[in-house]
Amino acid sequence: MGERIPHWLDKQAALHPQRTAIETPDGERISFSELRDKSRKVAFALIENGVKRGEHVALLASNSTMYAVFIHAVSYVGAVAVLLNTRLTSAEIAYQIEDANVSHVYADGRHVQVAADSVLEMNLDVHRLEHLTERKENLYELQTDLDLDDVYTMMYTSGTTGNPKAVMHTYGNHWHSAVASALNLGVHAKDKWLNCLPLFHVGGFSILMKSVVYGMPLMLFEKFDARGVHEAIMDKAITHVSVVTVMLQRLLEKLEDGTYPDDFRCMLLGGGPVPEVILKKTSAKEIPVFQTYGMTETSSQIATLSPEFAFSKLGSAGKALTPAHLYIDGKERGEVGEIIVRGPMVSKGYYNRPKREGEYLRTGDLGFEDEDGFLYVVDRVKDLIISGGENIYPAEVESVLSSLPGVREAGVTGRPDERWGEVPVAYIVVENGASLTEKEVMDWCRKRLAKYKCPREVHWIDELPRNASNKLLRRRLSSFSMQGGEG
Ligand code: ATP
Ligand code: MG
Repeated sequence: MGERIPHWLDKQAALHPQRTAIETPDGERISFSELRDKSRKVAFALIENGVKRGEHVALLASNSTMYAVFIHAVSYVGAVAVLLNTRLTSAEIAYQIEDANVSHVYADGRHVQVAADSVLEMNLDVHRLEHLTERKENLYELQTDLDLDDVYTMMYTSGTTGNPKAVMHTYGNHWHSAVASALNLGVHAKDKWLNCLPLFHVGGFSILMKSVVYGMPLMLFEKFDARGVHEAIMDKAITHVSVVTVMLQRLLEKLEDGTYPDDFRCMLLGGGPVPEVILKKTSAKEIPVFQTYGMTETSSQIATLSPEFAFSKLGSAGKALTPAHLYIDGKERGEVGEIIVRGPMVSKGYYNRPKREGEYLRTGDLGFEDEDGFLYVVDRVKDLIISGGENIYPAEVESVLSSLPGVREAGVTGRPDERWGEVPVAYIVVENGASLTEKEVMDWCRKRLAKYKCPREVHWIDELPRNASNKLLRRRLSSFSMQGGEG
């Protein structure tokens, strides 16, 4: 048994009963005491449905207040929430339900059919999230303490480099993640964090955890919508927003002139590489962007650029948060190597997979630290292109390509080559109405990149291949050139 703390939602309901816990853009609002009461009643309903302590309960749903209630209800029961990605196919969902040893499946109205299709061959029912009516009688005993070593959630990695793996997170992992972020960004009385990321990914989920650990209001969007998020930042006293690069790009288009209100103090940007042009645009508009690095395994952020370095270390993901270690494998400072991490927010391992040896997690990501120890994430180990003995990082080439006017987005991968081993090949999606020639692309690259990094071929495609988390699947790019998918 690990360290135990009072249930965090009971605590917030006792400390700040009337404070807003969750609000939505269409005016729904629920206080901490209401959230606690509702979550406890739904916990009774789960128990009546047969959910037992320690069992794995899957949820397939879009963001909603009820989603948050469900998450807290699971903690009152002491069960484990397995959060499924709503963009998966029924076959993919079936795989995860089996792999995660799920015994109860819940889905919202929009996803109930796909959930039902996925359990066809299993002896499982799908329950509607909306039908979890609140039970009044205090019939069952609920958890009043949280054991920091107990597993609370399982989320699958995005499956960018291989099959998704179920990451187990304990209460302690989520607690330490929230506290580590607070030690970096501070917690102010007026903080209100907007979440437009899916709650089934750790980036969105971690905001729900911050809300209940800090006693902070959460503005919950069902999904990202550039206009709605922009308006909320402008008019609804939002102080923090978490985004991925494409969202930031869309928000920048909305912010034609001027900047955000003074109280807006953090645009937390993570999840993948960020082209430098975007960072330059945000710094020109004085948007407080904090680049962050993390993964499902680290319960969201493990390194973040502190406020005072936001502009002087543009492009860096900062340093490891207070309770975390981070180092680069091998070599001297400044050289690229695999990023290795350790800390109380790092998951102990994957469900149904061999246990990790040792305390440190090898992230599969490449990075380097500059002379002041700031981390720059370079790329994935698996995506590295080695050409004539030189390393080429696709993200660097993609960043140069996306800064070329007329390019909407770009992907780069290696192609086998007799002489060089591998050479880089570019796949480009152009902006609506733009037209570019291969020569223009090559000239642009030659001015900005060493010759060996310049793409040897350019393929024009309509859309980059992405997974259910919207991440670029570089290993699929080459199929476009083989199938002659060029436009
Ligand atoms: P899988 O592990 O199944 O291949 P995945 O690694 O994409 O999928 P996630 O846990 O959703 O699954 O994503 C974490 C990864 O996102 C990191 O390991 C890293 O490669 C990338 N990433 C996160 N933050 C950054 C960043 N600031 N810069 C570059 N890459 C980042
Ligand atoms: Mg990964």
